[in-house]
Amino acid sequence: MLKHARILQVAVPSPLPGTFDYLCPARCDAAPQPGMRVRVPFGRGRLIGVITGLAEQSAIAESRLRPALSLLDAEPLLPADILALAEWAARYYHHPIGEVMATLLPVGLRQGKSTAAPAPEAWRLTVQGRAADRVALRRRAPRQADVFDRLADADGPLDSTALADLPGDWRAALRGLLDKDLAEPCDAHAPAWTAVAPPDLNAAQQSAVSAVCESLDTAGTFLLDGVTGSGKTEVYLAVIEQVLARDRQVLVLVPEIGLTPQLIGRFRRRLGDRLAVLHSGLADGERTRAWLAARDGTARVIIGTRSALFTPMPSPGLIIVDEEHDLSLKQQDGFRYHARDLAVVRAHQAGIPLVLGSATPSLESLHNADQGRYKRLPLPARAGAARPPDMHLLDLRGQPLEAGLSRPLIQRMRGHLEADGQVLLFLNRRGYAPVLLCHDCGWVAECSRCDARLTWHQRAGRLRCHHCGYERPVDTACQDCGSAAVKAVGQGTERLEGALEQLFPGVSIARIDRDSTRRKGAMEALLERARSGDARILLGTQMLAKGHHLPDVTLVGILDCDQGLFGADFRAPERLAQLVIQVAGRAGRAERPGEVLLQTHHPEHPLLVTLLQNGYGVFAANALAERRQTALPPFSHMALLRAEAVQPEPPHTFLEQARLLGEQQAMTGAMLMGPVPAPMERRAGRYRAQLLLQSADRGTLQRLLAVLAPQLHGLADARKVRWSLDVDPQETL
Ligand code: ADP
Ligand code: ZN
Ligand code: ZN
Repeated sequence: MLKHARILQVAVPSPLPGTFDYLCPARCDAAPQPGMRVRVPFGRGRLIGVITGLAEQSAIAESRLRPALSLLDAEPLLPADILALAEWAARYYHHPIGEVMATLLPVGLRQGKSTAAPAPEAWRLTVQGRAADRVALRRRAPRQADVFDRLADADGPLDSTALADLPGDWRAALRGLLDKDLAEPCDAHAPAWTAVAPPDLNAAQQSAVSAVCESLDTAGTFLLDGVTGSGKTEVYLAVIEQVLARDRQVLVLVPEIGLTPQLIGRFRRRLGDRLAVLHSGLADGERTRAWLAARDGTARVIIGTRSALFTPMPSPGLIIVDEEHDLSLKQQDGFRYHARDLAVVRAHQAGIPLVLGSATPSLESLHNADQGRYKRLPLPARAGAARPPDMHLLDLRGQPLEAGLSRPLIQRMRGHLEADGQVLLFLNRRGYAPVLLCHDCGWVAECSRCDARLTWHQRAGRLRCHHCGYERPVDTACQDCGSAAVKAVGQGTERLEGALEQLFPGVSIARIDRDSTRRKGAMEALLERARSGDARILLGTQMLAKGHHLPDVTLVGILDCDQGLFGADFRAPERLAQLVIQVAGRAGRAERPGEVLLQTHHPEHPLLVTLLQNGYGVFAANALAERRQTALPPFSHMALLRAEAVQPEPPHTFLEQARLLGEQQAMTGAMLMGPVPAPMERRAGRYRAQLLLQSADRGTLQRLLAVLAPQLHGLADARKVRWSLDVDPQETL
């Protein structure tokens, strides 16, 4: 062994760019290596950083370097490929490497916890448990039944990572089962797995599977472009089996809202205990354990949300990004990375295939497929017996509305309910009413901290701001003229629920939005009511739109498309189209045909007409043509520099300084636009402004950012604002 390097280059979680040099700790047992965690003095405090490099010399005089305090790991926690990916990401997003490193570690490890994870305990059903009456158990003890069902479906021992995502206190429920002798502890590594048999794949699924499996040894991106219910998940599972058979690992990324117990259950029934789950709902310990299981190769398939992209795997064989168009794959604060885009980089660096799946691919990915950079794998039809839904526009102009529902929609709802169908209504506005208005003078209740209206939450008796969280009691009189004639205007899910109870007495309703699902486990309970058929009308926001398999839904009503038609963001039409298709995808997934009704005041709007008559593919092609004409992404590349402060001026002066700095580079082909106030200028008591940087080619934009980003800290007014840089922003507002 060589003698220890003298200088450690350490990525320290701080907003300052670059790494920091330290001397080796005075005493250390192991030789420092890149990827190890190290505790260092920083300013007046101490922080935990990651060693990214070793050197014999520093640019800083040695007398001024401080020694690191201690090494936390005996061997590198982060392997070389993850360090390389983190460095790539820090460069591309122009974000401090220390914060990137901190983002990619599970919280426990970030805080310096030991990697010696406690030996996993595991449990299985007893012989008595296997003969137990599931229905009776569910009636008496639903929490215990959740754990029981998991163990029963697993048909082998499960450890805590396999139970940790269950709603409620699963450990208490498990203790109940142990007490009743229905379950017993056992060794985690003695499972005899009887996996559930896959269905016979149809021709389109088969050719998608073969296309990926033929190139398991090469880097390449596939776009699995399959309508909702076309069996994309079955394609993933079939490919995963092949990769596992070659003794390689698989990473599956899904959107926040898509990582449901149903999806996990489906993967687990097929893959058994080779699966590890990583998401933000897990307790720190479970998350760390799953992460370490991936890193040491015990876990063969890792399924997780955005940040799971950085999970170390000793033998990666495949990456899958499901619902690749979903906005939750992009982190919207701090280190603003896009997990899909970094998946492309990771797969390329590892020399393995990447599968991007969606029923409504992003225009970026469709463009990449058009350019031949991605290989497109179409699944044009629904799998099994399911047929596509019929979609129709309902012209709202001049129509009387009851609680936002037109007569024809109410009639169709009655028809479907009488025929024993389930109805799903989509309204992307929670609360009772979005506006509280004075009928006498026109005053509207507004947030004192934002340029926004307060939403009336009737049941809570509060007015709430959905942008900053501010809330206060509901006004009984106008704050301007004192009139008592204040009234609710517009529809929210809470108000609609009340109206539906009047319109459809005796019909049970499940409302799914952020308010009704705040309690842990509430979402699951509501979805269970939906799936079991107990609830006949399902009503919800975005949360209900995605991923849930609701086979008895035969009618989907979208109450208000018009919000999305005239959005200020250039991506608004794309998002609306994705939402409509995804919501429509909930209808008629099983043998029952579905019907989708869209209420609009603009039935001739070309976007809606194209979408309904020709489908998402044609819509997307048109939208891409428009983006090309207007030189918007993916035909150009953007970065957004945002700044905010309590006073209105500093964000502008700071951004002016940034613009001047950018213009001094005189880089041809790069445009700097602004600064302009953000569309909602004041939010949470702060004024916000932004500067847009745009270029027709990525390289030019990157060169400009490489000069600009390191100097932003030093600008005259940098300390007067909070600023952030967003490369490839998904929301330009
Ligand atoms: P997607 O992920 O594209 O929405 P899924 O994989 O969830 O689609 O499949 C939708 C439904 O069709 C599921 O109930 C699934 O079990 C079923 N399914 C998928 N492939 C087949 C097949 N080849 N034969 C029969 N049923 C299938
Ligand atoms: Zn008034
Ligand atoms: Zn507010």
